[in-house]
Amino acid sequence: MPGQENKDKFDKAKARMLKRDLKGRGITDERVLKAMAEVPREEFVLESYLSQAYADGPLPIGMGQTISQPYIVALMTQELWIGPDCEVLEIGTGCGYQTTMLSKLAKKVYTVERFAELSESAQAVLGRLGVSNVEFDVSDGSCGWPESRLPKSGCFDRIMITAAVPLIPKPLLRQLANGGFLVGPVGYGGAQELVVCEKRRDKLIERVICDVRFVKLLGKHGFEQ
Ligand code: SAH
Repeated sequence: MPGQENKDKFDKAKARMLKRDLKGRGITDERVLKAMAEVPREEFVLESYLSQAYADGPLPIGMGQTISQPYIVALMTQELWIGPDCEVLEIGTGCGYQTTMLSKLAKKVYTVERFAELSESAQAVLGRLGVSNVEFDVSDGSCGWPESRLPKSGCFDRIMITAAVPLIPKPLLRQLANGGFLVGPVGYGGAQELVVCEKRRDKLIERVICDVRFVKLLGKHGFEQ
């Protein structure tokens, strides 16, 4: 199919996503909507799912993992209130779509993935798109970002967990700055609650946003492998 015809299809599907699936469901933060409009989701999905790139649901990305539904990506991003000075930690790079969203809003993004294959392919896509404020790591993200490579402040202003955790991993709470926010799906069963935590004077204030369904975070402070 000629390139222009493809581009028109993606533009149309993206416009529908923005109007119906994001604005229509309460995504109001203009910076989040602008970033969702800018990031080409088609660059992150597998070739066999290209026609569904902007569909209202998750899609397989290989290794038994998924790229999250656009609405959930926007909602989790909106709930973090990311300012241009924020340093953000993401657990679960996956295909790098959410990482790219975060990179548009934050000063710097640090992202951890347990599968080298997924991290490498995300690094290639972000390289192609010219995203330069992201640091990658391949390790068990339930243990947090490697201590030897922490930002100068020693912690993160925002943390996003993009896989389900039974409880919020303690190392992540330790690496969250006071006054910072963390968002992620928490729960033991197939479904979880999307939880936002604010850390205030070393205490956590938790708020449940909605029910969600995520793949599991496997690791020392996540689910058993
Ligand atoms: N944000 C991703 C969502 C990927 S799904 C995207 O937009 O594509 C969740 C990801 O978390 C998967 O890639 C999975 O491999 C990864 N993951 C699971 N357990 C992990 C762990 N302990 N550390 C780091 N990443 C993990």
